[in-house]
Amino acid sequence: MTRKLNVFFDVDHTLVMWDGRLRPHAEEVFQAITEAGHTIYVWSGVGIRHYDMKKHGLDSYVTGYFVKPLHDYKNRLPLYKVNIMPDFVIDDYPQVIEAFRGYHISDILKKDDAELLEVWRLIQLMADEEEAEAIADANEATEE
Ligand SMILES: [Mg+2]
Repeated sequence: MTRKLNVFFDVDHTLVMWDGRLRPHAEEVFQAITEAGHTIYVWSGVGIRHYDMKKHGLDSYVTGYFVKPLHDYKNRLPLYKVNIMPDFVIDDYPQVIEAFRGYHISDILKKDDAELLEVWRLIQLMADEEEAEAIADANEATEE
């Protein structure tokens, strides 16, 4: 059992590229994340993006949609009715990754773009690491 994470994806230039195409590996990574028991949220500074996720066949993996604050991210979550604390965020905008833990994804596709596979690898690492910390804390507590 690893810790279950709230994973927040940005849309523009993260999942959906400038030409409207879906980033490679999006569906397999969404499937892997949810099958591992983590929860996917999609947020965007320009609004609720349910339609875009539906259009790209990803809607069934998404638990909730939010509007993303454009600055002062953590403090403004309540203002935007984001009632879930993001554990891991994926965004092409570096300031978002400075506010939360996550991955700063390239806004342009690389050759054989595998950015989302790297995202999945890092999510697994974080979940395992937090599980290891929880076990260490529990052991410490029993030793006292
Ligand atoms: Mg973006």
